[in-house]
Amino acid sequence: MTTITNNLQAIEAKMKAACERAGRSMDDVTCIAVTKSVTVERTAEALEAGITHLGENRPEGLLLKQQHVTDERAVWHYIGSLQTRKVKQVVNDVDYIHSLDRLSLAEEIEKRATGVVKCFVQVNVSGEQSKHGLSPEEVQPFLQQLQAFSHIEVVGLMTMAPNTEDEQIIRGVFRRLKELQQQLQALQLPAAPCHELSMGMSGDFDIAIEEGATFVRIGTALVG
Ligand SMILES: *Cc1c(COP(=O)(O)O)cnc(C)c1O
Repeated sequence: MTTITNNLQAIEAKMKAACERAGRSMDDVTCIAVTKSVTVERTAEALEAGITHLGENRPEGLLLKQQHVTDERAVWHYIGSLQTRKVKQVVNDVDYIHSLDRLSLAEEIEKRATGVVKCFVQVNVSGEQSKHGLSPEEVQPFLQQLQAFSHIEVVGLMTMAPNTEDEQIIRGVFRRLKELQQQLQALQLPAAPCHELSMGMSGDFDIAIEEGATFVRIGTALVG
């Protein structure tokens, strides 16, 4: 396995090039290391390499990594679909939840959280059956419902690109999410500043950055 430092150098070079093409600053894009498929040792290595944002997609994985990786710099992202009955296991231990996609989940977060939880609303832009998330049309009414919840702050939108090699289709999905973000920001909802966009993974993070991603979630290309 190549070292994380080497992988990170290659990824940062690609991020930098994408930022330059888009006239954006590297400071506006945060790389999350998705450690769901690797060991606690490999996760600790990511921190040593200087990556402080870590993403897990199951409560069990998150808690295991948190037990072993006690570095205070770590910022924890919950990026997977979240069952309502498991909310209490993670809600007060994560910094961000990327998968808010239904009212019942919001209600459970509201009930269990002891502070304000930074959430991304997950959007199924491509409309693929296999993907979680609200349709773009459903997001605005959902955000309006969330205004009654004092423990949820919608910091942004999250999406997964469709499973295709076609770069234009992938780019179109990211662009659509950015447009939706701009529409929602214009509403100026107090509990939904919506300034972040979580999009882009190992195969498409450069396209996502060109289209406005502020968080990219990288697993395979970074930690293996
Ligand atoms: C696994 C996963 C990633 C990372 O995928 P890679 O292709 O390995 O970079 C990003 N986001 C989510 C939601 C994931 O489940």
